[in-house]
Amino acid sequence: MNTFDRIEAGGHEQVVYCHDRSTGLKAIVAIHSTVLGPSLGGTRFYPYPSEDAALADVLRLAEGMTYKAAVAGLAQGGGKAVIIGDPAEVRTDELILTYARFVDSLSGRYITAEDVGTTQADMDLIRRETRWVTGVSQSLGGSGDPSVATAQGLYYGLKAVAMTLWGDTNLEGRHIAVSGVGKVGYAFVRQLVEDRCRVTVADVVPAAAERAVHDFGVEAVAVEKIHATECDVFAPCALGGALTFQTIAELRCAAVCGCANNQLAEVGCDEALAEAGILYAPDYCVNAGGIINISEELRGYSRERAETGLRHIYDATLAVFDRAKADRITTAAAADRQAESRIDAVGRLNLIRPPGR
Ligand code: NAD
Repeated sequence: MNTFDRIEAGGHEQVVYCHDRSTGLKAIVAIHSTVLGPSLGGTRFYPYPSEDAALADVLRLAEGMTYKAAVAGLAQGGGKAVIIGDPAEVRTDELILTYARFVDSLSGRYITAEDVGTTQADMDLIRRETRWVTGVSQSLGGSGDPSVATAQGLYYGLKAVAMTLWGDTNLEGRHIAVSGVGKVGYAFVRQLVEDRCRVTVADVVPAAAERAVHDFGVEAVAVEKIHATECDVFAPCALGGALTFQTIAELRCAAVCGCANNQLAEVGCDEALAEAGILYAPDYCVNAGGIINISEELRGYSRERAETGLRHIYDATLAVFDRAKADRITTAAAADRQAESRIDAVGRLNLIRPPGR
């Protein structure tokens, strides 16, 4: 498929190739949708094996951001950028500053943020050349590390799960199995323990699991066993693809609710979960805390307003569950439908505007 066919197939609005000979910058910015507002999404700095792989990734990620922002109720569209190369080898301040100029040239149609391979220090550097960047240091008016907000949002998603399954948001005594106790997982476990949940953790890095055991007095099990732990909720908080047909068959929980992106490894996994009677809280619905938090920077960051936005994840998750029930579809399909109907409704609203705007 050629580039235009791929852009058309994904429904993207604009794809920008950025090249600079002197710094060696090769970047692609993909704007999927600006119907709900300026597109927002991070910059991934990664050694893609080919330009083709980079384009495929940026198109997929940008589209995902549109859905995430729409379900979260944000006035933001979806976009994403990739810089091609290994940051450990090719990253220089000049390259990042040049990239920032390209972001600036889009005049706010695309707003960037941190992602795999980029850091808060990179965002601070980008801020020197453009205001269209979020996730900068608190000293520059930013909101700091987004993982705490992501964990908080996930906690509200879990409360929606509890309300749906048990008619009560109180989590006391519930058993949550958390796979991956990195930045988000660790903060999530802290919250669960404060709420008097029983928590079991696992992490491929033994020191990460040991830290959670030491700090919170939780139990740890082997990575291969965590999904099969008998519990109330399994929370995938590591990398994507935790839910395969095989792992789903081994689950012994009532619900899945975690922060990891792209949890469903294969087409049809959402149906397998539904058939197993397991309530699936769609990943991009319950892990939107980070984007909700950084989007607040665009209005002048207020922790209070961000907190209100994070609480909205509770309502958004319930709305997805309600839709799944009403339309007799899986919760994953309901999240997509929820996002699409909001984009459609707001898109029509945008057609009604006074002359000259
Ligand atoms: P992180 O790298 O800090 O933590 C991930 C943890 O998972 C690490 O401790 C790692 O050792 C562990 N891990 C890796 N593979 C594992 C496996 N197979 N089994 C068990 N543990 C494993 O990352 P993070 O920022 O905490 O993000 C976690 C997930 O949430 C990622 O999928 C990320 O894309 C997603 N997410 C993060 C944010 C955020 O604000 N950080 C926002 C939205 C989504």
